[in-house]
Amino acid sequence: MKRTLYTSEHEAFRSSFRSFLDREAAPHIDQWEAAGTPDRTFITSAAANGYLGFEFDPAVGGLGIEDFRYNAVMTEEVVASGMAGDTFTMQNDIIVPYLRELATAEQQERWLPRFTAGDLVTALGMTEPGAGSDLAAIRTSGVRDGDELVINGSKTFITSGATCDLAIVLVRTGERDGRGTTFVAVEAGTPGFDRGRPMRKIGRKAQDTAELFFQDCRVPLSNIIGDPGRGFGHAVVNLPRERLSLAVAGVASAAHALSLTLTHVKERVAFGAPLAALQSIRMNVAEMHTDIQIIQSYIDRCITELNSGTLSADDAAGAKYKATDLQWDVLDRCLQLFGGYGYMEEYPIARMWRDARIQRIYGGANEVMKDLVGRAVVA
Ligand SMILES: Cc1cc2nc3c(=O)[nH]c(=O)nc-3n(C[C@H](O)[C@H](O)[C@H](O)COP(=O)(O)OP(=O)(O)OC[C@H]3O[C@@H](n4cnc5c(N)ncnc54)[C@H](O)[C@@H]3O)c2cc1C
Repeated sequence: MKRTLYTSEHEAFRSSFRSFLDREAAPHIDQWEAAGTPDRTFITSAAANGYLGFEFDPAVGGLGIEDFRYNAVMTEEVVASGMAGDTFTMQNDIIVPYLRELATAEQQERWLPRFTAGDLVTALGMTEPGAGSDLAAIRTSGVRDGDELVINGSKTFITSGATCDLAIVLVRTGERDGRGTTFVAVEAGTPGFDRGRPMRKIGRKAQDTAELFFQDCRVPLSNIIGDPGRGFGHAVVNLPRERLSLAVAGVASAAHALSLTLTHVKERVAFGAPLAALQSIRMNVAEMHTDIQIIQSYIDRCITELNSGTLSADDAAGAKYKATDLQWDVLDRCLQLFGGYGYMEEYPIARMWRDARIQRIYGGANEVMKDLVGRAVVA
């Protein structure tokens, strides 16, 4: 089924981004996995080619392009390249709305030129050791003292946590219920702000994930992002975009895995014929193919709705759980069809499989997404 989401401009963008990844990412993925993070020169090179913060105004180094289809093209190509690609997701899909919609003119002047130049790797710190799905339970505190906010507490599992130059952190500034949380930006090097070593993960090894520690960490009130006391409100507005981004990656990963698997089952001979000659394998492939097309259509519709400002929180939550459940189901079935080869590191399906597992947990666990959809449906 032909997708109708993209225009020829998006396809031209896809082809230049694919060449960029072939040239500057593919040869280094193993090395980045060993290092636990992509090379910083890759990030500056991506920025120099216009791939970071393109939604921002040209005055601060962006391209002024607000069209999530470009973000989706990038995600699809990153998935096909075999890299984890969390830097693009974090910078372009997750952080941009915080800095574009919520940052003051002074903050934008301070940070956006560095962001678009690839000199400002950012992180978003919400999860804490005692508060993941239940974000209302966060305890990291931000207490006002004159014209500063004094931060105490810790965050965990933070993408780019070990390497970021700027962490946007959700802190408690009031009571648990009501207007109790605030986003604040903490720059690397601020006294009292420390990071743990990159955490050892089962997948997404080319992306660092770390704990953040705050001990009497003082930041100027001018680092507050958005309205003080309205942190949750801001997160609620931005989370649908984050969840859609994960959904785009989920269905792209399933589609790419199936395409690798089709090549394999057509070439691999068993019982005197290619695996694809077995009816049970064709039925398996048919189920995956049809499920991918159905969910792809839903995701494409969500992208259109995000662009027009009409994507609801529950539809985005539905997209997230459905696409990432599909991703896991398809990747596991595809790995199975590769047999023992699928378990070998040199086969892309192996890395895709282990990189995929977290998708059903982060960005809101899939059970939490279902609860969100269920509440909207019965309301
Ligand atoms: C690699 C990685 C990167 C991450 N990046 C970031 C980041 O950049 N920034 C950030 O802030 N966080 C990040 N996270 C954290 C992630 O968002 C949380 O792990 C996730 O929200 C789940 O929280 P938790 O781990 O505390 O699990 P818990 O909240 O303890 O939940 C455990 C499990 O319980 C079940 N569960 C929870 N609530 C419900 C419910 N209401 N109904 C039914 N079942 C439920 C789910 O199965 C869930 O997986 C990252 C995590 C990982 C592993």
